[in-house]
Amino acid sequence: MDTIPRDHFSHVPERICGLVDLAYNLWWSWNPEARVLFKQLNQEAWKKSVHNPVRMLREIPTEFLDQAAANPEYLHRYDIIMHRFRRSMDTTSGWFSEAYGSISTPTIAYFSAEYGLHHSLPFYAGGLGFLAGDHLKECSDLGIPVVGVGFMYSKGYLHQHIRPDGWQDGISEPLDRDAAPITRVLDANGEHLVVQVPHIDPPIYVAVWQVQVGRVPIYLLDTDIGLNDPVNRTISSQLYTGDLEQRLRQEIVLGIGGRKVLHVLGIEYAAVHLNEGHPAFALLERIRERVASGMTFEQALDLVRGTSIFTTHTPVPAGHDVFPFDLIDRYFGSYYPSLGIDRNTFLQLGLHPENPDGGFNMTALALRASAHHNGVSRTNGAVARQMWRCLWPGEPEKDVPIDHVTNGVHVPTWMNERVRELFDRRIGPVCPDWMAVHEDPAIWELVEEIPDKDLWQLHTWLKAKLFVRMRERKRVKWSEGQEEPINLVAEGSFLNPSVLTIGFARRFSTYKRAYLIFEDPERLKRILTNPWRPVQIIFAGKAHPADDDGKRVLQEIYRYAQRPEFAGRIAFVEDYNEQMAQYLVHGVDVWLNNPLPPLEASGTSGMKAALNGVLNLSILDGWWVEGYNGRNGWAFGGEAVSCNRDEVDAGAIYRLLEEEVVPRYYSRSIDGIPHDWVRMMKESIKSNGPQFSARRMVKEYVRKYYPALQTAAEADLRACRVAEAKRARESGPESGGGSGTIGFPGGDSV
Ligand SMILES: *Cc1c(COP(=O)(O)O)cnc(C)c1O
Repeated sequence: MDTIPRDHFSHVPERICGLVDLAYNLWWSWNPEARVLFKQLNQEAWKKSVHNPVRMLREIPTEFLDQAAANPEYLHRYDIIMHRFRRSMDTTSGWFSEAYGSISTPTIAYFSAEYGLHHSLPFYAGGLGFLAGDHLKECSDLGIPVVGVGFMYSKGYLHQHIRPDGWQDGISEPLDRDAAPITRVLDANGEHLVVQVPHIDPPIYVAVWQVQVGRVPIYLLDTDIGLNDPVNRTISSQLYTGDLEQRLRQEIVLGIGGRKVLHVLGIEYAAVHLNEGHPAFALLERIRERVASGMTFEQALDLVRGTSIFTTHTPVPAGHDVFPFDLIDRYFGSYYPSLGIDRNTFLQLGLHPENPDGGFNMTALALRASAHHNGVSRTNGAVARQMWRCLWPGEPEKDVPIDHVTNGVHVPTWMNERVRELFDRRIGPVCPDWMAVHEDPAIWELVEEIPDKDLWQLHTWLKAKLFVRMRERKRVKWSEGQEEPINLVAEGSFLNPSVLTIGFARRFSTYKRAYLIFEDPERLKRILTNPWRPVQIIFAGKAHPADDDGKRVLQEIYRYAQRPEFAGRIAFVEDYNEQMAQYLVHGVDVWLNNPLPPLEASGTSGMKAALNGVLNLSILDGWWVEGYNGRNGWAFGGEAVSCNRDEVDAGAIYRLLEEEVVPRYYSRSIDGIPHDWVRMMKESIKSNGPQFSARRMVKEYVRKYYPALQTAAEADLRACRVAEAKRARESGPESGGGSGTIGFPGGDSV
């Protein structure tokens, strides 16, 4: 059913009304030619909409639409791109169906508490969300049958405002649902689909929204509707609420409600991929459905395990939700029997053997109720095996069944369009369709064909664009009277595009150690204010609203940025989001990363930077252990340290900056180009581009897990049919089906 609210767009001329379809499919966001169609209508309107075509098409004066509809050149372009768009929506084509087309494949239901797709959809906090977004974009490109399940966070994550004293204020701005690229999923009567979350009393209802990511739909749950009582209405308002009980309700809604929504939508023949432990209740619900159709708990558990993948992302304790048993009792007291088990057996599912009284652990549940597990880098896989070996007593650590698939980033999303154009010009003549085969390292060897001058000029341009963008943001806030002069000083007014620029942008979690480079402020000051070879640093990132330690670190950095003796060489960019991330990973010279090992499971921002020729200066943790090759950036901290790790690591950063990074950057040839630096840029692009692409990652998931999932899903389907048939025979036709059983979509919406 067409769910786009066409009546909002009746002013769009018929001849170009495909723009509306394009606006509601994020496909446009990673296809620069499609983006141009919007931009070309009117540049200022495009800017004013903050690059959100749904908003733009609603607000743009009709004259610009009429002009475009009468412009043969525009129409020619429009026709080509719309043709390409429609063709790439064909779900029967693509790599996947070519490679696996002859077998029947289950749909993968991908569950994630956050999705980083585009800045117009504030449904993410950080890397976990971008991984989910990039994963699904790549599934679309490859034609993999998958649907996503997540939340429609009406207030998103916080917007960050920094006070003049450097303290972070969180400002919540409600999402304008009608100006966002999401649509209401409709029920059979054409009303907004609302589904009751099973087994919760008093009841919780979710309205269902959809965001279309190329060929992949993501279903977003929204509890902010009149049917719910006020407390329940706020369940989906924000990411990762600090209130434990509300958090539990969130995860019940995501897992159990999400599973139910798929059921109502008729998406039955599905395997499940859990992105982190938050949605793990989905596995329980799958077990319950099977028990309800007559299977034993053990049989149901076995079938569900075989058809479930669980990706664990972090060794940091805060990333693993643990709920007190009394809370679990309160919400699951009536659920235990429906699984055919008693309380004790239920609680065992979430037990951490090394901390049996600690509560119900969502990661332990996910590991027990799925058969396929992976960490997100080689190192992270090993760390996870060590952390969770207690669940497999007697197994040597190396045999603990947790593998790894190293993360990657969606290349068409994160490679700047100008860099892409440069590739088209230089690589295109040899390999016209290079983007279609971009996980092939051989293609990237052609980067060597790009003249140093072209790459350097482009980089300089992207850097200038970053600074213009930063200043423009400040100018607007200043003109609105929202800014003190000291904010302008701290937020980049004095940056100079010819100065070596380091970027550090990430969540202000303590383990990421944003403060590290200030370990020896005097030495840092000497590096930054060197009169002949100065250096500047741009920081960005948000602290979790409940994390006062994180906010203090941020404040300290902000205060350094205000101090005259640092000469305006430190800047803090407010309100880091997807859009700012794009500017930063395209435009700085060096990407700094110094988390406390081994806590960075992977890290992905460095991959985005590398793809655009920004050089990584990173600790050997997460992805960089696999990425660093001695020629494509700088590494430190690979060794174990028994004394103060901060001191040792900061010392390594200073030394690298003083002896290697700064001299190389400022060593120019007669043509003004730092050829040694550009050589490293090329090495960075070509070594990291294919290896840390979402293309490589998703294909690895498919190759590693699909054959087993396939077999298990067929066995599951057979077992479910047998159970259903048996039950129908026993109970007679009139009571067959009904809510809570498998194979009976529909009838459950309200
Ligand atoms: C990529 C990205 C992240 C994740 O970066 P890490 O290096 O994993 O910390 C966080 N936020 C935004 C906006 C991003 O684009």
